[in-house]
Amino acid sequence: MVKIEKIKNLKTPFYYYDMELLEKTIGIVKEEANKYGYMVHYALKANFDERILQKMRVAGFGVDCVSGNEVRYAVEKGFDTNKIVFAGVGKSDEEISYALDHKIFSFNCESKNELEVINEIAKSRCTVADVALRINPDLNPNTHKYISTGGKENKFGISPIELKEIIEMLPNLKNVNIIGLHFHIGSQILDLSDFERLALRVNELQEWFEEKGFNLSSINVGGGLGIDYVTPLETPIPNFKGYFKVFAENIKLRKGQTLHFELGRSLVGQCGTLLTKVLYNKETASGKEFVIVDAGMTDLIRPSLYQAKHYISNISSTFAERKSYNVGGPVCESSDIFDKDIELPITKRGDILAISSVGAYGQAMASQYNLRDFAPAVYSDSI
Ligand SMILES: *Cc1c(COP(=O)(O)O)cnc(C)c1O
Repeated sequence: MVKIEKIKNLKTPFYYYDMELLEKTIGIVKEEANKYGYMVHYALKANFDERILQKMRVAGFGVDCVSGNEVRYAVEKGFDTNKIVFAGVGKSDEEISYALDHKIFSFNCESKNELEVINEIAKSRCTVADVALRINPDLNPNTHKYISTGGKENKFGISPIELKEIIEMLPNLKNVNIIGLHFHIGSQILDLSDFERLALRVNELQEWFEEKGFNLSSINVGGGLGIDYVTPLETPIPNFKGYFKVFAENIKLRKGQTLHFELGRSLVGQCGTLLTKVLYNKETASGKEFVIVDAGMTDLIRPSLYQAKHYISNISSTFAERKSYNVGGPVCESSDIFDKDIELPITKRGDILAISSVGAYGQAMASQYNLRDFAPAVYSDSI
């Protein structure tokens, strides 16, 4: 919990990062993954803050990238290129070339057409690309439809139809080397049985590939572990122990095969809090009390974009009495609302609200719409 005394003189809005919690979370992930010899790649898109990134590098994690600029950023920030994986349905020729030149660990390839292009580009550069085929496993995890990626109607991953065509085509693609399989079924998944289903699906596919004569050295099961947005103070660290155990108990790895994970939200989500000041109280014609704060959807778009819920508290009010409010930002969009009908202590102009669990897909998705300033980052160990 952010202490009001510590931050009351800082200009709002800003992102506050609890570096002790981040350290602790990373420590637990390392410990649990090491138990089984699993390799973790941090999903850079969740938060590319430099200090956070350096913690991931020091921990020995690799990076999961979804754009050429992310690959470049990871390289520039000192990550071992042999721990960089690169996914995405729309890799451009330039992005592929850059990643090839830096000899990344693997391209997570999402279509037959992309595989052909990677092969062409690798050929023109007289090299061979290490590729994992991103398979669409046709699993629909229990999460919001906008952050589900592994259903057969989604744009992500290779479908069974294309997979058969790829297998037939492979003998002619001399400049790609298939090192393994990749999956990523979605985000904010809290029901571990969804990961169990994924593990079992991986087993089926492994057998299918083996029958076809493949020898796969790596399996990558993506990310997606969720965090507790409802009561973040009670569950600051996700259930990593249970998460890795589900894979250990269900997935059948072959001798020498490595298992890779791409964790984003679960690593950084809970360490971030958005601090914002109340500008105005107002009442709508319908009789609803609004508090208008100085942060908006440009700082945190998740509620507007995914109907996401974040726990909001008033850390400066001294009132015991509570009331129901809608909390909105200053941006000229009706969807610029952080939450509706939430109970807060009597809230007035000048109060500071803390919006919890914003470390992932918060600051990273900020924009300057309405020509607004970016909210800066503040770190718990430097104030
Ligand atoms: C976004 C993404 C991740 C990370 O997902 P989280 O839910 O944040 O863990 C992992 N892999 C790929 C391919 C992604 O696109």
